[in-house]
Amino acid sequence: MNRLTTFLKALADTPPQSRKDFLKLTGRALAVGTAGGLLTSYGRDQPGGRRSVISQVDTVPHIQPVSPPAVIPPKVDEPIKLEPIRGDADRQTPPTPSPQPPDQRVGYAVVGLGHLSLENILPAFGRSRKSKLVALVSGSPQKLQKVAQQYGVKPQNCYSYDTFDQLRDNPEVQVVYIVLPNAMHAEYTIRGAQAGKHILTEKPMATSSADCQAMIDACNKAGRKLMVAYRIQYEPHNRYVRAQIRQKEYGAAKFIELFNAQQEANPNHWRHIRALAGGGALPDIGLYCLNTARFIVGEEPTEVFAYQYSTPDNPLFREVEEVMSWQMRFPSGLITNCGAHYFAHESRRYRVLAERGWLNLENAFAYNGLELQRSYAEGQTEHRDQISLMEKDQFATEMDHFSDCVQQNKQPFTPGEEGLQDHRIMEAIYQSAQTGKPVSLPLITKIDPFRGPEPQLD
Ligand code: NAD
Repeated sequence: MNRLTTFLKALADTPPQSRKDFLKLTGRALAVGTAGGLLTSYGRDQPGGRRSVISQVDTVPHIQPVSPPAVIPPKVDEPIKLEPIRGDADRQTPPTPSPQPPDQRVGYAVVGLGHLSLENILPAFGRSRKSKLVALVSGSPQKLQKVAQQYGVKPQNCYSYDTFDQLRDNPEVQVVYIVLPNAMHAEYTIRGAQAGKHILTEKPMATSSADCQAMIDACNKAGRKLMVAYRIQYEPHNRYVRAQIRQKEYGAAKFIELFNAQQEANPNHWRHIRALAGGGALPDIGLYCLNTARFIVGEEPTEVFAYQYSTPDNPLFREVEEVMSWQMRFPSGLITNCGAHYFAHESRRYRVLAERGWLNLENAFAYNGLELQRSYAEGQTEHRDQISLMEKDQFATEMDHFSDCVQQNKQPFTPGEEGLQDHRIMEAIYQSAQTGKPVSLPLITKIDPFRGPEPQLD
């Protein structure tokens, strides 16, 4: 289609009331544009690809650039407020992102370049505001080289597990983020702290409460911060449920049912080797049920009772459990019913039953797609609705919280003590499953006894 035909079609498609304005606006451009277009095509056809001096910008209407009113705070990491464009009947947009300049952000070394690192953590640096990727640690030189190229990491900031301790001499790295098999978290936390770095470690924190304690001690001794990457505790839907329950919006929470299931496929993967994983469905995915229940109510269980099973002859479950099902009793009288399954179609949800209503979170432990429903009664009316919150990149959010703690010298919301408590409870759950009897835990009456101050999340 030539320029003139395109213009005539656009004119034909223009509603009558604006056609006059359209002609006024484009009249000059049409004349210049037709001539310019001809000259431009003429230039393109010249031998050697020589171009006309009349560029194609002359073929479109010129509009005077204007900056609409905006509030621009002087501090670099405060969001710019643009002119409003949505009425108050609609959901308001969140503040514009306000990333810190790269030289002010906290530098991270990511250790282990497997699924979680490549699929989620490294991309999340692109959405973070206070954290930047500066170094990588991997056992595969080829992977290191490629990933470093992709993310602009300098060759001298690429380490193997053998050269890991040389991070000590790299001032660009402030945080070491450990994304290795569970049984390796303790060693790399301790070595990282001894190298003078703050530690963010993936969940589960380790494979035993003794290792958790050693990690906490090493970080304390080195004067470094330690945080467990419990992303759910920073996720908006889960935080909303917690706030509603803590405010007793529907009365006291009486019962929580939580389950987390996925289907495993590779018996050679470390998740199915006890020495590397520490266990099966419980520490990997059941931990979400355990940790989220504790997070929502802030109480600590006083008793657990568990039942576990593995299908005989399935090579996936030679060393680790296929399913763990357990109950927990809390001081307020709240009871939770939890389940984790390694050989069922993916499902991650919970429902909190309170005295006068319930909250149900589908995809509760997923990276996205969380759906929150609630139900409560009012006279003869039963209300049941869906609450839709804006999702955030969970990995960027938790990394930025840790960076904030490093920058402001604050304690993380999910410190090592939070991970240690989960391991103590998981050890009681295994004991109960093995003995077939309930196992008691020490009574703790303080609310949120192991968490740091509330995070400032943007
Ligand atoms: P993965 O197997 O995909 O990656 C593990 C990485 O560790 C690989 O790059 C592997 O090469 C390396 N590695 C080094 N030494 C190893 C050894 N001896 N055996 C096996 N691998 C070795 O695993 P992943 O899914 O990325 O999980 C890594 C950690 O992240 C685990 O602790 C896991 O529980 C945690 N994780 C957390 C989430 C979350 O949502 N927070 C999600 C998935 C995994």
